[in-house]
Amino acid sequence: MSFPHKLMKNNYHTHMYLCRHAVGSVEDYVEKAIELGFTSLGMSDHAPFESLKDRSIRMHQSDYPLYLDMCHQAIHKYQKDIKVYKALEIEYFGEHDVMYQRYLKELDYLALGQHYIKDVTQPNQLRSTYRLTTHEHIHTYVNTLIEAIDKRYFAFICHPDLMLFNIDEFDDFIYHESERLILKAKECRMPLEINVNGIRKGMRMTPAGNRYLYPRKEFWEIVKKHEPRVIISSDAHEPSSLYDPEVEMAYAFAASLGIVVEEALDFSNTV
Ligand SMILES: [Zn+2]
Ligand SMILES: [Zn+2]
Repeated sequence: MSFPHKLMKNNYHTHMYLCRHAVGSVEDYVEKAIELGFTSLGMSDHAPFESLKDRSIRMHQSDYPLYLDMCHQAIHKYQKDIKVYKALEIEYFGEHDVMYQRYLKELDYLALGQHYIKDVTQPNQLRSTYRLTTHEHIHTYVNTLIEAIDKRYFAFICHPDLMLFNIDEFDDFIYHESERLILKAKECRMPLEINVNGIRKGMRMTPAGNRYLYPRKEFWEIVKKHEPRVIISSDAHEPSSLYDPEVEMAYAFAASLGIVVEEALDFSNTV
């Protein structure tokens, strides 16, 4: 397969085998990125997170030093060929400030991937973002992300529209909650990510019509209206996904809505 005019030159959302549901080492992804002519590659595997370890398949805490080592080795070995960033994708929960601050001392950035929210109807219970079904769930998700944006730990928001995975009816409440999140991102210059992995999952027939579960067109139409910062990420779980036809479909999706996609991010001024 050939891509004569590659659209993507930087990818900041990349997994590897230590999360236990991706394949390839850091070096495998870096070598692929060099072959593709990328300018930079951000490794952002799923962070170890004690309170989520029984809920999701992710990096074990004991593997984190190895992950850092692999990133450091690749950063040095390939420094003439590509800029490699070391990072993690992680959820935000307000009581873990110390953990985010600790990670940021060692890493170039954190990417916010909010795969769980607190279930306000069931104290101490979490709810998967793939299973949000009520207005209250959406309200909690948006509140969580707005608080996260204010903390300034995160360089960008992965798949912000994942909250709509199970929401078929994009009613006025959903519109306003989406807009509240988008306006906050705009105000704080926080990039929102169009996630290619959603496109890889394909179209699904729903009561709202044939659609990607994410990216969700109605959400990104509001993004177009307000024009916050937008990036596209591969969310690669295998090296060959760093640049695949779905990446080009994501650029086509953005272009069809008139969304301008930012290419390179600067991580020098995150906290
Ligand atoms: Zn993953
Ligand atoms: Zn991811």
